[in-house]
Amino acid sequence: MEPTNIHILLIEDNPGDAKLFEICLEESGIDNHQINFAGSLNQAMKVLEEKDYDIVITDLGLPDSSGIDTFKTISSAFPKLPVIVLTGHDDESVGLEAVREGAQDFITKNQVGEHSSRSLLSKAIRYAIERKKAEEKLQQLNLELEQRVQERTAELEKSQQLYSTIATHFPNGTINVLDTQLKYVLTEGKELHKQNLSSEELIGTSYIKRIGKEMAELAEHELRAVFKGESKTFEIRLNNESYELNAVPLPDQDGSIHQILVVELNITQQKKAEEEILNSLKKERELNDMKTRFVAMASHEFRTPLSTVLSSITLVEKYTTVEQEEKKQKHIGRIKSSVKNLTGILDEFLSLGKLETGSLDLTIVEFDLVEFCEEIADAMQGEAKTGQEISLTYEGNGKIVKLDQSILRNILTNLLSNAIKYSPENKPIDFVIHKTSNQLTISITDKGIGIPEEDQPYMFGHFFRATNVTNIQGTGLGLNIVKKYVEMLGGTIDFTSTQNEGTTFTVAFPQ
Ligand code: ATP
Ligand code: MG
Repeated sequence: MEPTNIHILLIEDNPGDAKLFEICLEESGIDNHQINFAGSLNQAMKVLEEKDYDIVITDLGLPDSSGIDTFKTISSAFPKLPVIVLTGHDDESVGLEAVREGAQDFITKNQVGEHSSRSLLSKAIRYAIERKKAEEKLQQLNLELEQRVQERTAELEKSQQLYSTIATHFPNGTINVLDTQLKYVLTEGKELHKQNLSSEELIGTSYIKRIGKEMAELAEHELRAVFKGESKTFEIRLNNESYELNAVPLPDQDGSIHQILVVELNITQQKKAEEEILNSLKKERELNDMKTRFVAMASHEFRTPLSTVLSSITLVEKYTTVEQEEKKQKHIGRIKSSVKNLTGILDEFLSLGKLETGSLDLTIVEFDLVEFCEEIADAMQGEAKTGQEISLTYEGNGKIVKLDQSILRNILTNLLSNAIKYSPENKPIDFVIHKTSNQLTISITDKGIGIPEEDQPYMFGHFFRATNVTNIQGTGLGLNIVKKYVEMLGGTIDFTSTQNEGTTFTVAFPQ
């Protein structure tokens, strides 16, 4: 970038000196220069304002300024402009001062015109020009550098802004960077605001502490593994919400891991939906099981009485003579009992239906429990097998209770009928009432076939029958209904049973 033309401003009030200078410059061997003159500092300043000069040569003693001030005025207004000062004949000290203040060089006036001064002048001018070129280049470089820095900074700011915007608006979770002590280096995300936390208060604190004791061990174990280079996904519960954590290492350039990225996602909604699906699936399966058991029960329980009815009717039709009247009556009796049996089953269904729709009303009355149970025991004794002695015992304080009689009767009748059904002849059945001031328990114990252990958990289900019932008839509804009745009265039902030894059912009601 060699300047094609060198612009020199000579500030000199003495026209003779100026002329001399011009000649001197001409002879100095500097090509392509253009020289302008100013006779005073004021004029010079104006000229300098208007046009760029490459170098200024100024006499320090001017009509409107003298000494070092002349230089200072120019250099403070145009700090980058190279200035060569001319000093008085014997005043080198001012020249030196000017150089100290930043002047390019100085020439004493008596030197102007001498050969030595010519070469000095040309050297100074060349030097000034070189310096100017270097300065310009430097300036250009600086400018470029500055621009590049600006661009890079803008880029960086933009990408940083983008990262921080993404992090801050990270939906339904948080983005975290943790250090080797599992302390927050960065944390952002909408979930933070939901939890009334700010990233400022969390940074530098322990992540493990924030997620609480319950989950600390699991989280610490998993996150430590991430520092060994693994990626981990696991779930935690925090403030009654579920989160899925995805943790990956953030290796340095040399591959060592000093930070990890943990992305927390709130998956409470998904969990709930999942649970609901599982629940309805379970219900569906239960319903299906129930249907299967109902079909099995119905085909078995309905078929026997119905086929009895059919065969008895066929026979009754045939018995037309008076002598056959007795046989006829026997079959009519069978028909009746089969119908009663079917009615019983249907009644059970009905009460089950009522129970399940909750359309059953309670009628709570005070009554003598022992008397009430004696009646039931008597009635059930009539249905018992030979030698099945039902013995009622009572212990405790007071016999008056407050309960719904028809429901209690249903409960006890069911339990006693099971005891009769599932135990053989000549085995006693114990019917025990135990009453304290705050609880009434009634238990019924038989010495029958018992319930196999593996069946015991399902005893209160719909249509469930144990695997050892063989050909003993039943629908598997009784206990289900009993349990619902017991619960209606605010009580509980339990049993203990050993196969081939016997069973005890106990109901308890708070008093
Ligand atoms: P039903 O609906 O006619 O009463 P069920 O007696 O079969 O029919 P539940 O009373 O609900 O039905 O009893 C369910 C099952 O529990 C029975 O099938 C039987 O396997 C078992 N069980 C109930 N009580 C006893 C008992 N005392 N001893 C042995 N098993 C019993
Ligand atoms: Mg039963």
